Amino acid sequence: MLSPATTRLKTPAAPQGDAAAADVTDIVRGIIEEVRRRGDEAVREYSERFDGWSPEDFLLGPDQVRAVVGGLPTTLIDDIVTVQRNVREFALRQRESITDFEVETSPGVHLGQRNIPVGRSGAYVPGGRYPLVASAHMTIVTAKVAGVGYVSACTPPIRGEIPAATVAAMHLAGADEIRLLGGVQAVAALALGTESIPKVDLIAGPGNAYVAEAKRRLYGTVGIDLFAGPTEILVVADEHADPFVVAVDLLSQAEHGPDSPAILITTSAGVAERTMRWIDDLLPTMPTRDLAGPAWRDHGQVIVVDGSVDAALALADTFAAEHVEILTENPRRALEVMTNYGALFLGAGTCVSYGDKVIGTNHTLPTRGAARHTGGLWVGKYLKTVTYQEVTDPAASAHLGELCARASRVEQFEGHARSADIRHLGQNVPWLPP
Ligand code: NAD
Repeated sequence: MLSPATTRLKTPAAPQGDAAAADVTDIVRGIIEEVRRRGDEAVREYSERFDGWSPEDFLLGPDQVRAVVGGLPTTLIDDIVTVQRNVREFALRQRESITDFEVETSPGVHLGQRNIPVGRSGAYVPGGRYPLVASAHMTIVTAKVAGVGYVSACTPPIRGEIPAATVAAMHLAGADEIRLLGGVQAVAALALGTESIPKVDLIAGPGNAYVAEAKRRLYGTVGIDLFAGPTEILVVADEHADPFVVAVDLLSQAEHGPDSPAILITTSAGVAERTMRWIDDLLPTMPTRDLAGPAWRDHGQVIVVDGSVDAALALADTFAAEHVEILTENPRRALEVMTNYGALFLGAGTCVSYGDKVIGTNHTLPTRGAARHTGGLWVGKYLKTVTYQEVTDPAASAHLGELCARASRVEQFEGHARSADIRHLGQNVPWLPP
């Protein structure tokens, strides 16, 4: 499809994508190497440097957890339980959608597929700036629904304090152990193991650019859910959209951090201009303006498409953004037109904040274009899809043996061919030593 004509009313002031990531890469590489070499000692040093936190043990004992949870208001605990129920409901439906099967592809040839949960998962719950309580629901409840036996959860202290609501959410979600540890040092410790921190099979959870880069670098040493870095919002609006709603929703995600992109693509120049005016008016009123302001200045974009809503949706698709809000007359059209996004929010009745905090779909979602090749965190990320086979009919095995011997010799794999030969010729093979 030809790109539609566009007018850019606001372009980002800072470099986007890879150019912005170079420094982070170097820092993360260094921390991982130190944790690999010096284990707990390095973990403690980095935790002290970045979080001012170096206790004897990062693990919270059962008594500490009980005290933290017991000190919270009942309404907060009730809300956590309610949201975890929503997340669990959706995750259970996902689990049901994944089925094991066995098929007899020809008489006596049985092929099967099973989905086996990883043994141990690490749940990274971000917390440098805000206590991201909801990330505990997303990473721990989902792992447990998948059947993960042991969940090791980590979150950083916030300004030297235990994030009580996050710890409560981790506990209520069913975490098997909880550590107050964050950043690259937490991810590296979970991936590599240290004297005091056992390694896990898979690490899941969102985080800032450092955390996301650490997960990317350690992929292979450990399983990784996806690249879920600094959050992004893209709004597609037509002339029916309310610019006030568009502005409030763009700012809702910009407040995540100064590196969070907020993008508006609209078919209406009027909506674009009024949205920008609202943002200018609303930003100074936000208690989080020190984060949302730089995010909007450095990573905000406003693009007016000279064409149909379909053209705007197609342009939005090229961004492969994490969160995409559709504020158009027929929002469901996006389900037919778009294929690259972490999560869609259809119509003004919902918003990214619902997805982030309460509604039940997982908020750990692909960023920086990763939505081109992956969806967000879900039950399936914790499962290994494995296969098995059995041939119960000797005639079927002999037939496969002939086919396999020929196929192997085409590829010059004599060892493979012999393994096949004996299944249809027994010891009557020409290559048997005298
Ligand atoms: P965080 O837990 O991700 O990061 C905090 C840690 O970063 C600290 O513990 C510290 O060790 C480390 N750190 C800070 N400065 C550092 C430096 N200069 N060098 C090395 N390490 C450093 O918490 P956060 O910072 O509040 O970020 C949370 C992030 O999670 C935000 O960017 C938010 O947008 C993102 N998020 C993404 C999703 C998603 O699904 N993509 C969902 C929710 C949140």
